Amino acid sequence: MITTRFAPSPTGRLHVGNIRTALHNWMLARKSSGTFVLRIDDTDAERSKEEYVEAIRADLAWLGLTPDREERQSQRLEAYQAAFERLREAGRIYPAYETAQELELKRKVQLGRGLPPIYDRAALALTEEQRAAKEAEGVAPHWRFKLDHDEAIAWTDGVRGKVKFDPAQLSDPVIRRADGSWLYMLPSTVDDIDMGITQVLRGEDHVSNTAVQIQMFTAMGAEPPAFAHEALLMGKEGKLSKRLGSLGCDSFREKGIEPEAIIALLARLGTSLPVEPIADRAALLDSFDLSTFGRAPAKFDDAELERVNTAIVHAMRYDAVKDRLPEGMDEAGWHAVQPNVSTVDEVSEWWRLVTGPIEQVEIADEDRAYLAEAAQALTWGDDPWGALTSALKESTGRKGKALFLPLRQALTGMNHGPDMGELLPLIGEERARRRLERAAG
Ligand code: GLU
Repeated sequence: MITTRFAPSPTGRLHVGNIRTALHNWMLARKSSGTFVLRIDDTDAERSKEEYVEAIRADLAWLGLTPDREERQSQRLEAYQAAFERLREAGRIYPAYETAQELELKRKVQLGRGLPPIYDRAALALTEEQRAAKEAEGVAPHWRFKLDHDEAIAWTDGVRGKVKFDPAQLSDPVIRRADGSWLYMLPSTVDDIDMGITQVLRGEDHVSNTAVQIQMFTAMGAEPPAFAHEALLMGKEGKLSKRLGSLGCDSFREKGIEPEAIIALLARLGTSLPVEPIADRAALLDSFDLSTFGRAPAKFDDAELERVNTAIVHAMRYDAVKDRLPEGMDEAGWHAVQPNVSTVDEVSEWWRLVTGPIEQVEIADEDRAYLAEAAQALTWGDDPWGALTSALKESTGRKGKALFLPLRQALTGMNHGPDMGELLPLIGEERARRRLERAAG
């Protein structure tokens, strides 16, 4: 049984990068009828906000990425404390007393000597007396996890293939601050164990965290889950853009982007599969496969999203949009204007051509008599537009643009728009005749 998790920190709104990670975890779970857990990483009490927790839930619901379960780190502090004590007894956690400035200085010295800035384990070398002296001075320790330098770290990554780390090249991570609050590393591992997470899929910025966490899993006697790290999302300019970091569901909604368009794009961006306007999630799930994920950054392009969105809107069934259409607009109305819109919101502009009032366009003098004749010739059957234009073609000898354009202008007040054959029945006989007569002057 597969269990995945999406673990956002509620310190802000979801952005397109998080949404992609959420989606892929959702897909991984759904593809195998597994469980998708939403884990709220809210150990940072100061920066975590309830309004963001609510926004994360609402955004996932809008996207249709509903979790099967929700967990919150702030409610699991006892579990972290218990793990902390066990690891400490096992000698895998040690207190450290350096100040942030001291650590920064060490880093600078190492970098200045061309050495990697790895923590020198000075705190581990302290004797009992030296520790006691620090405590007596009133210095509260922060806590580090002691990496086992003899235990090589290796895993087969779902995206990156074989990954190896030499633990001696990593710093023992700080897992707990002097005030007792938790950093990300240990709680996440404890949760992944307790929640039965089988697959951890996250951004490649977490690769070195994984190396450390694998030793934590082992130290706690647990089998590490399968890991996969996807390449990060970038703007099409090829840089990690600030803009992407603030691009979320609100701005998509504002632009009339459908959740299905976001899903279709993000499901395949950065994979070897083509991005296609697939609104059917089952079809997306069928082709979803981590082995298609590339190592190069995935490039996010708004224009591509808009293209996918337009194609999805053009294929949307009436049932799926009917609650969002302007009052009185029925299935025939949707079909008439659907090919002319790139977002569902745009239908109201076109629908106004049916309900009016329409703007009167300037009608050329030579067309006025023609439109008067059209008002007379208008009959109402199955295909009033076909009947009208055939009759006028016959009686006036007009064809092409000269035949059609003045009629469209008179009937809709525009030079272009939805298919008149579909629009005219919606405008209705009376309204159509009045518009023709008015334009005839
Ligand atoms: N809260 C972490 C983050 O947003 C979770 C990382 C993870 O998936 O383990 O980066």
